[in-house]
Amino acid sequence: MLIDTHNHTVPFSPDANMTILELIEMANAMHLGVVASTPHYEYDNPDPNDNIQTFDLKEYSSAFEGWKQLCPPELTLLKGIEFGYQKHTASLIDRIAQEADLDIVLLSNHLFRGRDVYYSQELPFLPKTLRHREYITTLAEMVENVNNFDVATHFDYINKFCSDSSADLLYEDCPEAFDRFFEALIYKGKALELNTSSSMRRHAMPDTAILQRYLDMGGELFALASDAHVKENVGAGISQFAALLQSLGVREVCYFQKRQIKMVTLP
Ligand SMILES: [Zn+2]
Ligand SMILES: [Zn+2]
Repeated sequence: MLIDTHNHTVPFSPDANMTILELIEMANAMHLGVVASTPHYEYDNPDPNDNIQTFDLKEYSSAFEGWKQLCPPELTLLKGIEFGYQKHTASLIDRIAQEADLDIVLLSNHLFRGRDVYYSQELPFLPKTLRHREYITTLAEMVENVNNFDVATHFDYINKFCSDSSADLLYEDCPEAFDRFFEALIYKGKALELNTSSSMRRHAMPDTAILQRYLDMGGELFALASDAHVKENVGAGISQFAALLQSLGVREVCYFQKRQIKMVTLP
């Protein structure tokens, strides 16, 4: 079975251009067994003009009850969230994740030196190993500082919007930072998301040395996600990433339902 544990729909993700019905229809058309709705929750976003902020969790819960009725029985729709991490919001994320009634909690870092990677003007002018080391080190710190989450997302977000093909994120760019990140993930029993959106955009698959190192350190929890904001991207790249994992000897991926881990055998 294939799964897609990270997707954005309107109105709870204002940067999306897809409805929940479109998400469900596309997930069905792509023969996914599991699909997650994971709106952005970016508390205290340093950019007040960014449309990604927070949303009302009670409104989300009541909307979700209606969405379940739209879903065919063969598709599992997960009620998720994507928290945007900053050092000073770690305890707030822990508290909200504890209080909210959710299936799956994603933990993300979208910022580089206080600005979303998407908007950062200094990123392209920094050496790639420096920006990669800084970003992966922040991911390590994020996983160390937050406890109540299930999946650490898109470790390659740092070069998602970079058009330079020589800017691929490699394990050898910052091995110590990757090791610290993976050590924290494995110690806490959290999953590593393989997010297809950067690879699809850049026409480059992830560096297998990154995935091999995670496996060698004892990591075994992978989530597979398209991070779609438009219907054309739902499930995009999922089967290629599943094949990549299988080539490394991985047979199962995972998702979370009512915050309980579920393992799924790859087809
Ligand atoms: Zn994200
Ligand atoms: Zn996302």
